[in-house]
Amino acid sequence: MRLYISSDMEGVAGVVHEDQTNPVDPGCAAEYQRFRRLMTREVNAAIEGAVAGGATSILVNDSHWSMRNLLSEELHPAAELLSGGPKTWSMMEGIETGWDLAACLGYHAKAGTSPAVLDHTYADVVADVRLNGRSVGELGLNAALAASFGVPVAVVSGDQALAAEAQALLGDRVRTVVVKQAASRQAARSLAPEVACARIREAVRLAVGDAAGGSTPPLFRPDTPILLEVDLQSTSHADQAGMMPGIERSGPRSLSFRHTDYPDAFRAFRTIFNLAGLG
Ligand code: ZN
Repeated sequence: MRLYISSDMEGVAGVVHEDQTNPVDPGCAAEYQRFRRLMTREVNAAIEGAVAGGATSILVNDSHWSMRNLLSEELHPAAELLSGGPKTWSMMEGIETGWDLAACLGYHAKAGTSPAVLDHTYADVVADVRLNGRSVGELGLNAALAASFGVPVAVVSGDQALAAEAQALLGDRVRTVVVKQAASRQAARSLAPEVACARIREAVRLAVGDAAGGSTPPLFRPDTPILLEVDLQSTSHADQAGMMPGIERSGPRSLSFRHTDYPDAFRAFRTIFNLAGLG
């Protein structure tokens, strides 16, 4: 069994504030250094579970902000680490190289969810994203990309809002690990890191075992042609990103893009939010 891990940070046990996940502001350094270690521990717990379940190949893609958060010197030796950016497939870089199942760890709910710790969808400029009319966040966008390469998302970890989003999107067979209960955007009641790690370890062990037995959650594959719609926070964001060829201005703050191929729609989304950030 080959396991792919996408590792974000906002959904790690204990994380409730952006100061804890901010790798660039020197004022956040003390908090950030603590929480990147907790992020690394949760990833290592997943790797331990995968090994116990019979995984033979494991790749971890660092998926948060600068994508240079996980402590490589502390990485479990059974896995390889894909670190840094930019990466064409961003939070799912490497998924295209062939995997039996994927785990999305430390994930968070989509922009506009409440209560949910640090809800957002890739960038602050993004208010909502829809695939064929269905609102999705990072989990949905990334699960659809994994599905394009034939890989089901079988395990997710994060807060209760992320778990609910995962079940609505991927069905009951996705294993969800709730490491904290959000009280607001910047408050949560969290498991102790050690307990969170134990639950992640067990969920991944079981998911790898399920996959070895031929049971995985269904692929989240949007019907083609794909209609990607992006609502931005302001008209100036839409002015900037709307200049991209092939983009339609579907509203004052909204852009849409149609394509037959999901990976290209995903790349269009990445380009939209990067351009919008200039607006
Ligand atoms: Zn993140």
